[in-house]
Amino acid sequence: MRHPVVLPPCPTCGAMRQAPDSRFCVQCGTPLPAPRKKHTALWITLGILMLLLACTAIVVITNALAILDHGGTLI
Ligand SMILES: [Zn+2]
Repeated sequence: MRHPVVLPPCPTCGAMRQAPDSRFCVQCGTPLPAPRKKHTALWITLGILMLLLACTAIVVITNALAILDHGGTLI
C-alpha cells in the first residue's frame, strides 16, 4: 500500500516508518517527525512575506498622507 504523502524515514537508523501516523521508529524507538504535505512550509513563508508587504505598504501610505496633510512634499 502506497501513501501519497512523502514519509521521512527514521533520522537515527534510517528505517522506513510503517504507517503515516507512526510516532516512533519500530526499529530503534526514536520519535519520528510528523509527515508534512509538500510545500506547506513554502506557503506559510509566502503568506508571512505577503503579510509583511501589506503592513509595509500601509505604513508607507499612512506616512505619505500625514506628510501631505502637514503641507510637505513627498519628493
Ligand atoms: Zn530508527
